[in-house]
Amino acid sequence: MRITGGRVFDLHEGFVQRDLCFDGRLITNSSSDSQSYDATGCYVIPGLTDVHFHGCKGHDFSDADPEGLEVMAQYELSRGVTQICPAGMTLLEDQLTRVCQVAAAHKAADKPGAALCGINLEGPFLSMAKKGAQNGEWLHAPDVEMLRRLMAASQGLVKLVSLAPEEPGAMEFIRAMENEVTISVAHTTADYDTAMEAFRLGARQVTHLFNAMPTFTHRAPGVVGAALDNPQVRVELICDGVHIHPSVVRAVFKMFGPQRVILISDTMRAAGMPDGDYTLGGQAVQVKGKYATLEDGTLAGSVTDLMSCMKTAVSFGISLADAVTAAAVNPAKSIGIFSRVGSLEQGKRANIVILDENLDVKDVFFRGELVRG
Ligand SMILES: [Zn+2]
Repeated sequence: MRITGGRVFDLHEGFVQRDLCFDGRLITNSSSDSQSYDATGCYVIPGLTDVHFHGCKGHDFSDADPEGLEVMAQYELSRGVTQICPAGMTLLEDQLTRVCQVAAAHKAADKPGAALCGINLEGPFLSMAKKGAQNGEWLHAPDVEMLRRLMAASQGLVKLVSLAPEEPGAMEFIRAMENEVTISVAHTTADYDTAMEAFRLGARQVTHLFNAMPTFTHRAPGVVGAALDNPQVRVELICDGVHIHPSVVRAVFKMFGPQRVILISDTMRAAGMPDGDYTLGGQAVQVKGKYATLEDGTLAGSVTDLMSCMKTAVSFGISLADAVTAAAVNPAKSIGIFSRVGSLEQGKRANIVILDENLDVKDVFFRGELVRG
């Protein structure tokens, strides 16, 4: 297959006018068949990777429902998110074990839809003071043995784990696990020095920067300042137009550079569904327009999707090349799958999204097969 006439995302040069070929499942230099796809006037980008979303289409990863996970994977694929690493909420270990088992079975059965490339454990190792929409009753001190049990239940799928570094045992946890999983600083009251120590020990990411952490101020730069001072650390950003002001989105791209920003959707089950009453992590959530909130008004995830977040970032003034880097390249690096996906280089999976001139999804190729958007 040869995709012709489009502006193709290049890792080093941004968008270039050229053909893109693939054979079978892989991107190639040339094509052995005569099939072609006309992408004139379109953008050709790698399939996105969402490393932090909880649910969509009425289902939540934390339900541990195999059919729900299939619906989620198919919906994400239709939105051009070809790799998913869904996030669990703060739950009791029993439920998290079931979540991990369901994900492992889904992966082993090679179910249709976006490729399940990892599990993100957003809870339970978080701070009560910054729990946001996590259920406080089920928070737990960082626990290496619990994580090892969950990793075993997931058959190695746990790729990301969030933690509040000020909690008892957190630093020992980072030291013990930093080689096995990406550790992300999250839902935290940590000051600058505490966050610096977490990064020195091996934490490599920040979960939804600015949300559920102390603010960045001139005498107390907190987690944001510490992340900025550690070039190896990437930062997640919810770009739904609700969680973060457009000016701050622009500031983050300038401060951190596009190579260090990971766009995430942080969606809950109402994404892709009408307004109404839903739940998140066992708590009631009301959804109205772009807002999903608990009874007390706390934001409870988003109701968008990663492709829309990418488009929103562009509407805020981020270049399309930088937005694609943040939604496709960096998240793939964060969970260790960038050697196979996340860009359009030869030898990678033919997971390709065609965007029209308005940046709406026109078509999706997944493992070389055309999936209508
Ligand atoms: Zn969160």
